[in-house]
Amino acid sequence: MSGYFYYAAIYRRARKAHECIACGTAIVVGEEYTEQVGWDEDGKMRRHRYHEECFDALCDDSNPFEFTPGSLPPPERTTE
Ligand SMILES: [Zn+2]
Repeated sequence: MSGYFYYAAIYRRARKAHECIACGTAIVVGEEYTEQVGWDEDGKMRRHRYHEECFDALCDDSNPFEFTPGSLPPPERTTE
């Protein structure tokens, strides 16, 4: 573990619109999403929000947190 640590995932329901950091599309009001909060090695708080599907997809990866924001394909249900 380096000085950068990440955090527990929290499951929340959106009370206002957010953007999924993984796929770059909207998390709409009322949708359940996954939020991660933590601190980087400089002590800055960071908050990332994901569609549940996007978070699951990242967790399937062998190196889940090395990704480019917006690079993941959005969940199919959001493009209908
Ligand atoms: Zn997403």
